[in-house]
Amino acid sequence: MASEKPFLSVVVPVFNEELTIEKMYERVKKALEEDALTFEIIIVNDGSYDSTVEKVKRLCSIDNRVKLVSFSRNFGHQIAISAGLDKSRGQVVVIIDADLQDPPELIPKMIKMWENGCEVVYAVRKKRKGDSFFKRFTAALFYRTLRILSPVEIPLDAGDFRLLDRKVVDVLKRMRERSRFVRGMVSWIGFRQGKIEYVREKRIA
Ligand code: UDP
Ligand code: MG
Repeated sequence: MASEKPFLSVVVPVFNEELTIEKMYERVKKALEEDALTFEIIIVNDGSYDSTVEKVKRLCSIDNRVKLVSFSRNFGHQIAISAGLDKSRGQVVVIIDADLQDPPELIPKMIKMWENGCEVVYAVRKKRKGDSFFKRFTAALFYRTLRILSPVEIPLDAGDFRLLDRKVVDVLKRMRERSRFVRGMVSWIGFRQGKIEYVREKRIA
């Protein structure tokens, strides 16, 4: 039975996250309950072959705000995010990774910015903890090369951790590009966009 529409949908793509998914759920729940927000957590299983799905099903059984979308195989992070956006019902939607590299405690701050008129709030990594020199170097190179090649101005060092207003999600849902780069699409569509800075944590497992 469809429950009442939540204010916030949290979209989490997961691929073999058996070691992180429960901790992620606890931290998101804590961060949101402190603000007394109504929410749903949409976990998109992108073809995991560990015990991620069993763990998510258990979460669904103890908390009906948790929803599972499960793919038949691994389709990739960007497709998983897109499926989560398609399922989301909230007035605002936040995309977040399962490994807690994106701190859930930032979500209430993103919502404050939304209340002040931002329709997109993207999170910029001002520091990356625990990533190897290789990862930091290739990531920096990627964002800067993309900036040179793309006519769309895509913010440097911002991943998919972001808040989207319902209006923005509805527009994204109408863009059926097959080869999807969600953060590029979000930059392209316009709307009032604000940024928030954060320290990117280490993957917890
Ligand atoms: N992920 C996914 N499909 C994949 C690879 C990753 O859904 O094929 C998920 C993963 O479980 C995590 C998020 O996407 O929640 C980001 O992945 P990862 O932490 O590996 O990326 P990085 O932090 O290195 O950018
Ligand atoms: Mg990660």
